[in-house]
Amino acid sequence: MKTKLNYTTPHYHKESKPMNCPCGTKQAYDHCCGLYIEKKQIPSTALCLMRSRFSAYALNNIDYIASTMRGAPRQGFSKKKLLLENADIQWHSLAIIDATDEMGNAVALCIAEKSSL
Ligand SMILES: [Zn+2]
Repeated sequence: MKTKLNYTTPHYHKESKPMNCPCGTKQAYDHCCGLYIEKKQIPSTALCLMRSRFSAYALNNIDYIASTMRGAPRQGFSKKKLLLENADIQWHSLAIIDATDEMGNAVALCIAEKSSL
């Protein structure tokens, strides 16, 4: 089963405390990606995971990014390096191109709009 969603969030600034979740659902952060980033729940779908990773980048929560990495990307990962790189990035929006969750195989195709400060 595939779902196709496509929307973008308003510009989000990591200096401000999020009321609406940075991922663009228009839900309160505490009831959206905050559940996963604050370790109250585990993302149940690939889409939830991708949204929460986008929000973690927007909020500069590199610990969450590291905790959700698997396989090859985890090798050679440097929290310090990613913190430095992310400090100069403004995360603007997340566009969901496609998401599939079937029988334990989950894929989410997303495009994150960002720019350098
Ligand atoms: Zn969210």
